[in-house]
Amino acid sequence: MDYKIVGKRVIVSFGQKCCFDCKYCYTFSKNFDNFTKRSAKEIFKALQKLDCKKFDTIYLSCDMEPFVNEKEAVKLIMLLSGLGKNIHFTTKKVLSKSTLNSLVKINNALQKKGCLLIPAVTIAAMKSASFLEPAPIPSVEDRINFIKTLSKCGFKVIFAMRPFLPVVGLEEYKGLIDLVKNDVACVLGGIFYFDSEGVIEGRIGCKINLCEESLMDFVDNYSKWYVYSGEKEREFVNAYCAKNNIKFFMRSKPAINYICGQFNSADE
Ligand code: SF4
Repeated sequence: MDYKIVGKRVIVSFGQKCCFDCKYCYTFSKNFDNFTKRSAKEIFKALQKLDCKKFDTIYLSCDMEPFVNEKEAVKLIMLLSGLGKNIHFTTKKVLSKSTLNSLVKINNALQKKGCLLIPAVTIAAMKSASFLEPAPIPSVEDRINFIKTLSKCGFKVIFAMRPFLPVVGLEEYKGLIDLVKNDVACVLGGIFYFDSEGVIEGRIGCKINLCEESLMDFVDNYSKWYVYSGEKEREFVNAYCAKNNIKFFMRSKPAINYICGQFNSADE
């Protein structure tokens, strides 16, 4: 895959092997080809050539932790901010103080152009399935504190409790939301992709019966994948978010549209 535009979002990856070992991650399947490694400059040059009317958001990244190399990630975000688009990233890391300071400056500069730098912090489970996100992934507590820090720094933070997994107890989602409900702009769930060979099911230690076949619409990968759509989790989390007056989404684009809409209406 090069740079895929999906619903006004251009999806970007550094393409290095991810530094983490999330047990549910589809990149560990034989069906997933990691993208070619590329530098911040290469990515920026490629995006400059795209028709900028076709996208309003740049999304880093769907197949690795974008802050594996924090300096390179900041360099990329800084370059991309010159394109005058919203920039959205997902991370599992607790970023260093200097990285955070740079991101705050970029966010402030983007806001002057009517755009936002929107971080999403992912936590898939709390205690019942902590094996899913082993060290060196920062602990749940550290990531929760990082969400609070991002919020204090003026970011509209997406809390990504994704993907929804059958090995995570529903009450845990409630517990996680309680910890961050005053610090996040919205909550994001997500469906779970796994391979037909059973590699990912083996990694999470669970055979999944309730599943459907699907393609990945966010990358150019045409292998056969299964998905666990997490209907029961979706209903449960949606109801709990509604009770707490928090917006809940299953896809990142509507979440970004919601956050940008709020930002722009506050600006009028
Ligand atoms: S951080 Fe993301 S890409 Fe890396 S192993 Fe975890 S889910 Fe996969």
